[in-house]
Amino acid sequence: MTLNFAACKPDTQFFWTRQTARTPSVCALLRHLPRLRGGGIVLLALTLPLSACAQEKLRIPEAGAEMADAREPLDSHSKTQADRAKSKILAQERLAIAPNSPPEISCTGLAQQGGAVLCQTKPNAKVKIARSEKDFYFENADAAGKLIVGFDRDEKKTFIEAAGERVTFDITPREYDTSRIDGLPPSQVSTFSDAQLKRIRSSSARKKVGFGSRATEMGFADGFIYPVANYTKTTNFGAQRILNGEPKKPHYGVDLAAPVGTPIVAPADGIVSLADDDLYFEGAMVLLDHGQGLISMYLHTDEILVEPGQRVKRGEQIATVGSKGRSTGPHLCWRLKWRNRNLDPELLTEWPR
Ligand SMILES: [Zn+2]
Repeated sequence: MTLNFAACKPDTQFFWTRQTARTPSVCALLRHLPRLRGGGIVLLALTLPLSACAQEKLRIPEAGAEMADAREPLDSHSKTQADRAKSKILAQERLAIAPNSPPEISCTGLAQQGGAVLCQTKPNAKVKIARSEKDFYFENADAAGKLIVGFDRDEKKTFIEAAGERVTFDITPREYDTSRIDGLPPSQVSTFSDAQLKRIRSSSARKKVGFGSRATEMGFADGFIYPVANYTKTTNFGAQRILNGEPKKPHYGVDLAAPVGTPIVAPADGIVSLADDDLYFEGAMVLLDHGQGLISMYLHTDEILVEPGQRVKRGEQIATVGSKGRSTGPHLCWRLKWRNRNLDPELLTEWPR
């Protein structure tokens, strides 16, 4: 079915009244019709004088059984207010069962431990993210209806819900390496003086500010590039670390060994949320906020070339490789967080698929 409408400004607010039905705002909504459910046509037809803005051809998806209902309201001028309200409710009920309707939420990407998916739902939709019926929380999609969902190192089955529709991810388990580092000074592993504890706490407070950044622009739509051009990978994401014989937290990053001074570039557009050269463990670290709660980390750098609040483009240099902080030699420890979950930055170089 093809209807004719005028071109209007996108994203204009639309009101369901006969009075505003002839204004350009209605046409704005009509421009988005191909992305609406088939049932949406029914609701429009209830209130619209269809000849009001007839210029631009717009393809309306075939809506099967809804088409009959779409014709019915065209003579609804003779109906009472109650009849129209009833028709609208009926139409909304059909909306929920429209056979050709697009899903409320759909996702593509890497549903594996350390990976992420990019989901498309309605603008600013409230999305439930759950590991079980009891363990869940909510995030809002952005103004374009996009939401990234990341999976932690040991993530198991996860599901998300929007408008009552559920998408379940059966997370593929991974096998992780064991990484042993011996010969570290005890002060970098487990025994800390009061002065060191003070520095560690002060470092944590500053990092917390950097991780709290929430850029609204999505700088990673084209995925990530590697931040160092030539490197030797020495540790994979997720490796179980054993420092001086003591099992510690897993290694939530990828270690890319390269000579001191090697340029480190931004893997995607972002905003610098931390540039600190006095952190106890990380030495000199940069954090880049890529939007959607996705923050990449660059540890043990030699020289930091950016400042907090600065916008950087993909490929722009942010620092140089070094060996500051708890480090056994020149390398970039590249990490990625999605809110409180640790992702594998290398997987994002394969994303989106
Ligand atoms: Zn590392």
